Amino acid sequence: MRAGAARRLGAAGIAGVLALGLVACGGKSESSTAAATVDGLPITHFDSGLKQNAPAPNLDVTNVSDDEADKLATATIADVEAYWGEQLPADFGVQFEPVKSLLSYESDGPNQENGCGDTKKNVNAFYCGADDSVAWDRSVLLPTMIQQFGPLSVVTVLAHEFGHAVQYRLKDQAGITKATPTIVKEQQADCFAGGYYRWVAEGKSQYFNVSTAEGLNSALSSLFLVRDSAGTSATDQQAHGTAFDRIFAFQLGFEKGPKDCAALNMQNIQPRLTERPFDQKDKSNGDTTIDDDSVAALKESLDAAFQGANVTAPRITDDGGSCPSGPATPPASYCPGDNSVTIDLPALAALGKPVDSEAEWNGDDSGGHGDFAAFSEIASRYTLGIQKGVGASIDNANAGLRTACLVGAWAAVASKRGKLRLSAGDLDEAISDLLRPDSLVAADVNGKRVDAGFTRVEAMRTGYLQGSTPCTQQYG
Ligand SMILES: [Zn+2]
Repeated sequence: MRAGAARRLGAAGIAGVLALGLVACGGKSESSTAAATVDGLPITHFDSGLKQNAPAPNLDVTNVSDDEADKLATATIADVEAYWGEQLPADFGVQFEPVKSLLSYESDGPNQENGCGDTKKNVNAFYCGADDSVAWDRSVLLPTMIQQFGPLSVVTVLAHEFGHAVQYRLKDQAGITKATPTIVKEQQADCFAGGYYRWVAEGKSQYFNVSTAEGLNSALSSLFLVRDSAGTSATDQQAHGTAFDRIFAFQLGFEKGPKDCAALNMQNIQPRLTERPFDQKDKSNGDTTIDDDSVAALKESLDAAFQGANVTAPRITDDGGSCPSGPATPPASYCPGDNSVTIDLPALAALGKPVDSEAEWNGDDSGGHGDFAAFSEIASRYTLGIQKGVGASIDNANAGLRTACLVGAWAAVASKRGKLRLSAGDLDEAISDLLRPDSLVAADVNGKRVDAGFTRVEAMRTGYLQGSTPCTQQYG
């Protein structure tokens, strides 16, 4: 975020932006059930990954080994081929053709070649259109990802790469030409991966199990890791998307299926893409220190955004992060007794430190999650005060999701005006926070959260893209 840089519009200028239509309807059993699903699928918990009784894939992979990475990669290709073998004829009237070749290589080992050149030092997994092949680095990329996010990270990456092979097969039906910007191809590939994941989550895969809680969390975290770095432009030739944009595409595929993925083009994705370069005035590249001053600016931003709710805004006090007689959800708690948010400033300052992306890749402690992660935690507790003020429930699954949605709605307001402005990379910091197991952003007043990161992220995005109205409609 950028504090104090833009003062074109004072607080009065954004009055009423989030005129909450909140009504007191907490506890409706129907909507409570609806919210606590993953797009209609039950929230499940079990070990995700290769099934014990998975068949041996009948595929020819050049330079293949017995490594876990190769086993997972090969099974993924066999599985996505089975998926597209059903989906291409059914959805597009196209007969499916497997890719012509597959290559496993070691980026730190002997060089291999395919239609796209040398593999030495190429820490990557990719589809190569020149010879219709898929290749993956089994020595660095895949093991790193497995170590951090488990076996489904390999599935996620290769289902995405195979999505590019599908684009080649669909041709005009995916609207891809030589002039198509990279970001469109990438959005489609993430979306196709999401469609495949739905099929796995529904139990249709011979090879993989995926639980909708921890399993999908791992898939989304993998997409998070391969996001573009903050400040990339969406029109950059190499742009693959922010985590926010990539997860949007993945979830679109999961919820709507491949036809909607193939319909993605620059025109219809442009309005929702969040990727943009740093503002020239943003000298700190978006990193604001979490201190008394920036928390005061945050409070001002929240007050202005929620002014339209016509309720008494909660105070924010640096008081240790637990309520004296009430919920303790440090590092920030909402205390219904005196309508205050109490925070542990040093703990939030640590959480809000910039992300060390090199450490993140190495699986080391990546420092903080960025300033917006800390701001979102505080904002989430603040919105509970607003929700309580208008008579909404604050202690159930819907309240948690409504909270995430309202944080998103506030972030959208903050992206446009006010003293504390959203900067490039901030939304990804919110996603990073939401995917943490102990995040408060989608938690109710007692710190309870819906287990599915998929549902938490979706709730925040709904608010960001559509404002506060759906927060109350969807999470009654
Ligand atoms: Zn790609």
